[in-house]
Amino acid sequence: MITSETVQRIIRLDGGGLPIVSLYVRVPADYGERDRLHSYVHSLLADVREMAQDKSIDRDARLSLRGDLERIEQTFQEGEPPAGAVAVFSCSRRDIYEVVNLPRPVRERAVVDETPFVRPMLAVLDEYRRCCVVVVDEAFTQLWELYQDELEELRRFRDPALRKPDFAYGFKEFTIHNRVRELAKRHYRNTVTMLEGLFRGNAFDVIAVGGHDYETRPFLESLPPRLRERVAGTFVIDAKTATRNDIKQQAGEVLERYEREEERRLVEQTLERAAAGGWAAVGLSDCLWAGSVAAIEKLLVQEDAIVPGVVCDESGWLGTAGETCPLCGKPLRQTPDILDELAQTVIDEGGSIEHVEADTQLKALLAAAELRFPLPPKPGGQPAD
Ligand SMILES: [Zn+2]
Repeated sequence: MITSETVQRIIRLDGGGLPIVSLYVRVPADYGERDRLHSYVHSLLADVREMAQDKSIDRDARLSLRGDLERIEQTFQEGEPPAGAVAVFSCSRRDIYEVVNLPRPVRERAVVDETPFVRPMLAVLDEYRRCCVVVVDEAFTQLWELYQDELEELRRFRDPALRKPDFAYGFKEFTIHNRVRELAKRHYRNTVTMLEGLFRGNAFDVIAVGGHDYETRPFLESLPPRLRERVAGTFVIDAKTATRNDIKQQAGEVLERYEREEERRLVEQTLERAAAGGWAAVGLSDCLWAGSVAAIEKLLVQEDAIVPGVVCDESGWLGTAGETCPLCGKPLRQTPDILDELAQTVIDEGGSIEHVEADTQLKALLAAAELRFPLPPKPGGQPAD
């Protein structure tokens, strides 16, 4: 799992005068293409290889790059990364080597700089909510991290609890009940303190809470507003007997519902903004134009939609058809999926992406976007439609 610590560590990497190689490679789902992956990586690194030989570059930097090249090529020769994409950050002379599997394709490239090139990685990871799963009963808490369908235990702890006597009656029974409640309350408070620590580092986006109804209810009540607003949902589970798989499945369903709901909200919000004449683009044509002029702040794109199109590699113009670029007159490149080109463009320009799986109006529209500025008129005098 890509833990939030890993991401934070990568963001803070510093070559301290030496170059860091950042490499992004797509990994096709089709297994037949994997054989070509290695030679592919080799060609992506051509410029880095050239730098490693360039006598005008500092010797330490050159040696570091050579170490990077060796290790990266070895990774792709031996490893079998899962489908999607792989990001590698390497600075051999500083003992830096990080490999991150990304669930979605990214634009391929090798970048050499003193800091890691993290934007494409962050844009891809940004789409997935990092969920802290809390499983509670009156004395026992388990904290888990759920992210991209992987579950990892963070910690578990137990507070003292009173064992209920086998028989009790009258006044004695009443005091025991009170005492049990008191101890449970204290346990929930301790759990909250632990959660606050986890959320202080901004490591998590949302919380899923599991337990019996009589456990989760008082626990939720003990959450401060700041944490309560992060609760994505609750699920019923017995903390003592729950297996890892039970937790993963039930918390996964909570998170899934939450993410679909969030998508619906985003689509609605963007369409409303457009309807009110605000800075928004709706539909493929306007979104492609908005992408061409770097106007997109947040792109919503229909999951699994594929539309062939054309791109100008000179000016960055994106369209669905044509022979020459309306901006610069250069011949256009055909692409099997213009939505993917649009998404990569938005990432390069520092915007964010949301692939929408939920059933919304976006199914017909394919794309919608929140903009940074109003759209200029399209080239050739076409009105923005
Ligand atoms: Zn052009």
